[in-house]
Amino acid sequence: MTTAKALTIAGSDSGGGAGIQADLKTFQELKVYGMSVITAITAQNTLGVDGVYPMMLEAIEKQLECIAVDLQPDALKTGMLFNSEIIELVANKMEQYKWKNLVVDPVMIAKGGANLLQQEATESMKRKLLPLATVLTPNIPEAEELTGISIRNMEERKEAAKRLSAMGVNYVIIKGGHGDEKEAVDLLFDGSHFSSLVAERIPTKNTHGTGCTFSAAITAALANGYSINDAFQLGKDFIHQAIKNDLHIGSGHGPTNHWA
Ligand code: PLP
Repeated sequence: MTTAKALTIAGSDSGGGAGIQADLKTFQELKVYGMSVITAITAQNTLGVDGVYPMMLEAIEKQLECIAVDLQPDALKTGMLFNSEIIELVANKMEQYKWKNLVVDPVMIAKGGANLLQQEATESMKRKLLPLATVLTPNIPEAEELTGISIRNMEERKEAAKRLSAMGVNYVIIKGGHGDEKEAVDLLFDGSHFSSLVAERIPTKNTHGTGCTFSAAITAALANGYSINDAFQLGKDFIHQAIKNDLHIGSGHGPTNHWA
């Protein structure tokens, strides 16, 4: 039996609910072998982010090289990349290694307000990384930041998806968690058609790491050979269950539940 392998290139969350930790837990649950390249260490818990420590570029490059010479990923995702130097390094290595099935979660600001991407790095993300992305999974504020469109309704959300698609992304998924619809509506644009998945909105404060978990589930599905529509459905179902079975851990915003 061949084992599907997925890689996450992201930041570490010492509290275990988001970032690398959420990604690896999700890969494990979805029966994919998980690998990680750590771009930054965050000191955080359910109360928020207390410190951000980017890794040396050399350390990031070495991690990528070690994976490339021995363990080709079937799919990979990026999460917190923090600055333009890290974005450019990751994009250059992606091109060099010709890795396929890249899911970009354009992590920018943590729910508590901490900056996980420096402001001036947005341009590098658009110019260098998005043209390599198979799937891009912004939430509404991230889609606004990347496109400059202020998103107040579904028409504007569709316009933003078209704008992101034109930046070179194959499939854009704008998540509806921050929307004001009664239900959580996630929108997929494949460059010519729109489709959406709708789920009941769950009232809970324990949503730490939802974006990481959703994009990791899609990455695991792509590693397992799913079509984009099936990967989207699996990601939506996985995150819905994870929020529904939220974990009451810590005294702040607890994590979603990675046990499937
Ligand atoms: N910390 C790290 C390292 C992350 O990658 C992310 C993901 O976006 C977060 C924190 C954000 O967590 P939250 O879901 O609470 O915004």
